Amino acid sequence: MSQVIDQDKSSNGTYAAANNGTKAAGGSPRSAAIAAVTSYKPSPPPMNFQETPTGELFNANVFSKSVMKQRLPKPVFKALLRTIESGEKLDCSMADVVAAAMKDWAIEKGATHYAHVFYPLTGSTAEKHDSFLSPDGEGGAIAEFSGGQLIQGEPDGSSFPTGGIRVTFEARGYTIWDVTSPAYILENANGTTLCIPTAFVSWTGEALDKKTPVLRSMQALNIQAQRILKLFGHTDGALVSSTAGPEQEYFLVDRNFFFARPDLLNAGRTLFGASPPKGQEFDDHYFGAIPDRVLAFMLEVERELFKLGIPVKTRHNEVAPGQYEIAPMFEFANIATDHQQLMMTTLKRTAEKHGMACLIHEKPFAGVNGSGKHVNWSMGSASQGNLLDPGDTPHENAQFLLFCAAVIRAVHKHQGLLRAVVASASNDHRLGANEAPPAIISIFLGDQLTDVFEQIRAGGANSSLPKGTLTVGVDVLPPLPKDAGDRNRTSPFAFTGNRFEFRAVGANQSIAGPLVAMNTIVAESLDYCATRLEEATAGDPEKLNAALQTLLTEIMKEHGAIVFNGDGYSEAWHAEAEKRGLLNLKTTADALPILQSEDVKELFEKYSVLSERELSSRLDTYLEQYCMSIGVEVNLTLEMAKTMIFPAAIRYQNELASTCANLKMLGYEFDTDTLDRMTGLVKSLQDGIAVLEKAIAEPESEDLLAEARNCCDVLLPAMNQVRAVADELEGIVADDLWPLPTYQEMLFIK
Ligand code: ADP
Ligand code: MG
Repeated sequence: MSQVIDQDKSSNGTYAAANNGTKAAGGSPRSAAIAAVTSYKPSPPPMNFQETPTGELFNANVFSKSVMKQRLPKPVFKALLRTIESGEKLDCSMADVVAAAMKDWAIEKGATHYAHVFYPLTGSTAEKHDSFLSPDGEGGAIAEFSGGQLIQGEPDGSSFPTGGIRVTFEARGYTIWDVTSPAYILENANGTTLCIPTAFVSWTGEALDKKTPVLRSMQALNIQAQRILKLFGHTDGALVSSTAGPEQEYFLVDRNFFFARPDLLNAGRTLFGASPPKGQEFDDHYFGAIPDRVLAFMLEVERELFKLGIPVKTRHNEVAPGQYEIAPMFEFANIATDHQQLMMTTLKRTAEKHGMACLIHEKPFAGVNGSGKHVNWSMGSASQGNLLDPGDTPHENAQFLLFCAAVIRAVHKHQGLLRAVVASASNDHRLGANEAPPAIISIFLGDQLTDVFEQIRAGGANSSLPKGTLTVGVDVLPPLPKDAGDRNRTSPFAFTGNRFEFRAVGANQSIAGPLVAMNTIVAESLDYCATRLEEATAGDPEKLNAALQTLLTEIMKEHGAIVFNGDGYSEAWHAEAEKRGLLNLKTTADALPILQSEDVKELFEKYSVLSERELSSRLDTYLEQYCMSIGVEVNLTLEMAKTMIFPAAIRYQNELASTCANLKMLGYEFDTDTLDRMTGLVKSLQDGIAVLEKAIAEPESEDLLAEARNCCDVLLPAMNQVRAVADELEGIVADDLWPLPTYQEMLFIK
């Protein structure tokens, strides 16, 4: 019972006392959870939507450009804008003025503390809070916040992973104000905090975080894109930025179930659980009506995100039962990265308020669709607009073709890197399973572009397939312009009209890593193209067209193998991809070593995105995290198998055995099949536990790569073996003895 949370105070719904006589009532955490969930009575949300329409909330808690304009002296505001919008060097002498304005604004909004927010290599968000108040020396306190405090902080971050860059005895790490990402106010029932997005670096200036390389890679992309634009005669120098729009998938389960499952609580995914008789086969959930309780949650999430200036746009049910998606409008990549982190935090926090748990793990339920985070990516500038917009006749749009070909070349050349930056213990359950994009990186271009690039490969493009009109055959419906390409849901890297969508990214990952990789590989590709074209034209714009034809044809001949428009899930593709020489790095243990390759080292070093030391520190950190995640899961598997599943199994075995014995004594016949099967399974469970215990008792290897291999090749299979037996037991053991909330209950009871 103790695990059932009292929702009366914290949520906008109430639970009656647990155990209201539902079927499984019997005193186990599971039965208590079911009782509590089924007696949940939602009450209306406390928000008054009429009073403040959601639209009016936008940016309410953001130290936005308009707030800055109002509160800062004109020269200071203009100087800041130049840094934010044109990438000019920050003038630190203004910091005191900005800090004072920020503090006044924050205190008016009720803030008592400020926090430097940073993004450590764990992929999570970290905050160091300080009070605005300082002793005034006369027994009182004054509110203080100087330029120095705005610009720099020194969190005691020695416990953040650094992959050896910073050891605890030389633990200095600094947070540095990132002026390009606006400060904001975070409201909490217990207080309000001014949050300042920062970069986190060691005292030697090395990046210890996910944000710094994003900013560096954007700078690199801009420099190379400018060279290309100059060849096309665009010399205004308007900053070229990468843009990102991440679509976030997640699951919601009632918090009572969450707390009754040690695996969900500690590992974020279920380590046991048989498939429900009814799963997602009917596809009746996708885009279905959103249940009221979930809708109340979504509305609150949207309002909270709006206040923070996060432009959320779409919400819908996803494929699996209990699965949903939220997507914001795209923003500059660095802002999108920060906002994405805030979004994950907001989803989790708001779910709690509504008596639910938001699961952002890539695969919370085996056999049920996992959750990804599709990262839509493009690049553009104020004067050029979206550089990946093909227009109606892409074959005539030479500039588009070049930028697009540069991406194709980049993805082909650095497919291993793209696989490595989405590698994690949790995302491994998704990639390569029969749902999400496969572990093989390929590009979907759609019919129209494929046709254009096929022509280019053959020597030159002269036509584009027309887009046409889609007629629905019902007069009252308007005719729609038909997209030139159909959608393809199986491709890990798909062109979707005017951007690429990187679908292999995991739901729980920071989008920083994927964005750094995309920005940098495309910068490298643009560099290559610019150099080739600059040489060929030698300053004569008349020669551009011919040079471009030659270059594009070459690129498509050399790198066209990455284009694949077929079914990425099929067996045939695996064989075909191998023939084409594409990589198929199935697991994190296979993919992460790519970060050690000379190609990748050179790439990041050349464009000043990551030094060799920074890169290798990242590799170490990710390997460590991989091993730690699996280590935790092994221990949890053992604990749950021994203390929950085994006891339930032998109780049932005992019941069966005594029934058999009694009946036999009375002279009745009794089929012992079930008892035999139970006895066999109990033995298998014991054997599985023993194998896993032995495997985990082996001393860990000093070499992280070897350790990761061991996790992948020895620990995971041993864990899966225990699970397989337990899941079979779930189908036999009496329901009232089964201790864990089932898939059916978690996914369908809300
Ligand atoms: P889907 O049909 O793939 O589910 P959604 O509408 O859910 O599409 O999400 C598409 C995402 O792509 C949105 O976040 C949108 O803002 C983003 N997007 C659109 N244009 C661009 C662009 N130029 N650069 C980056 N992202 C973009
Ligand atoms: Mg979508």
